[in-house]
Amino acid sequence: MKAIIVRSYGGPEAIRLETVDDPKPAPGEVLVKVRAVTVNRTRDLNVCAGQAGGPEALPLIPGQDPAGEIVAVGEGVDAKRRGQRVIVSSRLTCGECDFCRAGHGSDCRKSRHIGIHRAGGYAEFIAVPAAQAIPIAERLSFPEAAVAMRHFPMAMQQLGATKVALKAGEWVLVMGASGGLGSACIQVAKARGAKVIAGAGGDERVAAAMALGADHGINYRSQDLTTLVKEITGGRGVDVICENISDPTTFPAAFASLAAMGRLVTSGAHGGGTVPVNMKQLYHNRQRIFGAAGHDPADIVQAMDAAGKGLLKAKVDLVMPLEKLHEAFALIGDRKVAGKIVIDPQA
Ligand SMILES: [Zn+2]
Repeated sequence: MKAIIVRSYGGPEAIRLETVDDPKPAPGEVLVKVRAVTVNRTRDLNVCAGQAGGPEALPLIPGQDPAGEIVAVGEGVDAKRRGQRVIVSSRLTCGECDFCRAGHGSDCRKSRHIGIHRAGGYAEFIAVPAAQAIPIAERLSFPEAAVAMRHFPMAMQQLGATKVALKAGEWVLVMGASGGLGSACIQVAKARGAKVIAGAGGDERVAAAMALGADHGINYRSQDLTTLVKEITGGRGVDVICENISDPTTFPAAFASLAAMGRLVTSGAHGGGTVPVNMKQLYHNRQRIFGAAGHDPADIVQAMDAAGKGLLKAKVDLVMPLEKLHEAFALIGDRKVAGKIVIDPQA
């Protein structure tokens, strides 16, 4: 089969398209014919550059969120799964820690990743544990499923029962609203009946977030976020904040707009990671801050179900063949494509 192989670290130039043996599904695994796999700025480029969080051993086939069709099953797997359209969850929980044993794999801190710690989806075929391959609806295209996988399950986890437990009718402020996870949080919050305020760092970004269904938009670089949120919510503030930036210059204004009993959840820190937190406000108002970094199979099932019904829309900007992965990396590296590029290894 055709596959992208990283044999040495060194950025995009170190990856090559090669012909290698087809993988065979081991006992408990399924073989997936890959029809779509995402291209990610941070994750894939870092893997190729050998940066922190990258692979421990080379050679490696990278590639996250492969979607495709099961074409063979290993020993012990129901043969009826052959022909199933699936999305592959890249996160492999350890199965042994206290959290995994208690059924909370989302909180496993020893998780590994397909595409980093074992062969990923930049190939015509991939063999994965059967439980990682989750069925998708007929009306969901493979590229849509791959893009949906990237952020929707995480948004489900952030707003779900084990974290902020968002209720219909509540107010949600989504910071970084035009980003991948922010866009997903807006859609999931709206699908759950919440009222959404989108906070973004530019007028075009605010407009993009509004187009996804946000009820109000605020440019937190040019407008007074706290005052506007208070105005919009009749003085009480928002019940939930999805804050996945952690920028010390923007966090305080967001946190100050949290209502009494409010909950803030975070899964990102690309804005720096260390922020001032008004602890007086927190305890006076009985507020809570949640950290989230993984998702459960139920989050994926719910995300794919909602995407399959058209309730969540994963935007695919460009589909390219495996041969053009270098070009895809260059496009996202230079930020020339705003949205998502997907590779179709069968193209
Ligand atoms: Zn574990």
